[in-house]
Amino acid sequence: MALITMKFGGTSMGSADAISQAAAIISNQRESGDQVLAVVSAMNGMTDGLLRVARTAATGDRSTHLVTIAEMRARHHLAATALVSDSMALAGLLTALDALFDDLIALCHSLAVLREATPRALDQVASFGERLSARLLAARLCAIGVTATAIDATDLIVTDDNFQDASPQMDETRANVQAILMPMLNNGQAPIVTGFIGATRNGITTTLGRGGSDFSGAILGAAADTDELWIYTDVDGVMTTDPRLAPDARVLATLSYAEVGELAYFGAKVLHPKTVQPIVDRGVPLRVRNTFNPTHPGTLIQPEIEIVPGVVKAVTIVKDVHLLSVEGRGMMGVPGIAGRTFMAVARANASILMISQASSEQSFCFVLPSNRAEAALTAIKHELAAEIERHNVDRVYAQTDVVIVTVVGAGIRNQPGVAARVFGALAGRAINVLVIAQGSSECSISLVVAESEA
Ligand code: ASP
Ligand code: MG
Repeated sequence: MALITMKFGGTSMGSADAISQAAAIISNQRESGDQVLAVVSAMNGMTDGLLRVARTAATGDRSTHLVTIAEMRARHHLAATALVSDSMALAGLLTALDALFDDLIALCHSLAVLREATPRALDQVASFGERLSARLLAARLCAIGVTATAIDATDLIVTDDNFQDASPQMDETRANVQAILMPMLNNGQAPIVTGFIGATRNGITTTLGRGGSDFSGAILGAAADTDELWIYTDVDGVMTTDPRLAPDARVLATLSYAEVGELAYFGAKVLHPKTVQPIVDRGVPLRVRNTFNPTHPGTLIQPEIEIVPGVVKAVTIVKDVHLLSVEGRGMMGVPGIAGRTFMAVARANASILMISQASSEQSFCFVLPSNRAEAALTAIKHELAAEIERHNVDRVYAQTDVVIVTVVGAGIRNQPGVAARVFGALAGRAINVLVIAQGSSECSISLVVAESEA
């Protein structure tokens, strides 16, 4: 018997059909003898809708939220009615949902009166999506004969008070999980826990940041000593590349933690490294699976078991980036110019995706998200004003219409020739490479090319 933690994302909770699929997956896994701890996202679109409603109310608008909340209520009622046929059970579920919607209306009304939505209040409003969806899934499971209970993670995950991006306190969380969830699991029950949310030590609701349900799955799974964490989504697993760009893109059977981290970093829509850290720390296997294709094994992500030399797993593209360059013959041997440049970039609140410097030390360049490029450029010119004046630095400029292409695979390590083949393939198509960098993990090679060549 194993303990499997399953996290279901927004599309996996997005309709009665999806929720009944999720319930069937949980029920089947339990029938095969395993324990299942489920962690759920809100129905897709709910979190965005809730935050919008709160912001509108905070302008003093006392009526718009009533319309939107009525639509949300109708959507949940519709799903409830399709999921639960027993009239007593359905009445109980609708009462529970309505109690939450009534609280939500009262809360939005108070925002409208106060004309204010603090991060703390926004977290409170945003928490309703997961609280509603957890109740729908638990009720569906009960309807198909599984003893399931919806649990608000505010009773389990203890966080700091950094509202909207709170960090878990693992020791206290672990104690709660051991005291509350483990007895339930050991009694044969299926706990259905809200993703995304937690609470401070004083019981004030917090959220773990947008998309935070993966993080919740990893936190709760780690605290429950789970054997595996399965992330259920609406695709079969992690792909070799974007299928919209390459029709021959395939689902990867396996990836290492390092490879998935590299992929996430370079823009592939997979697990954010921070969110799975609690699981990675413990070496627990992760799977990405499809709620709507439950027999597909998905992608297995685990510590590096063996590196197959030469194996490249995936190729990603990061768009909407600018390439910034700092050039000057007078920079050679002058310490601190790169350091000050990067500090200026940090002050402009821009995060650097890739850096490259030629050993001649006469220029270096780096890639930033486009929306921060202008601010970064201004900050650098200001910081290096004296050097520019003295012509130690000749030019600071940005190039647009470029993309980063990253080739990911632990097999690049210790394997001469992979880079040569990558560049050979580009040369074969006469594609000009603007910048090259290899991560020191040697798990990826990144290059910048013109967007038109992406
Ligand atoms: N519902 C939350 C969001 O949309 C968390 C999640 O779905 O992971 O950000
Ligand atoms: Mg998500």
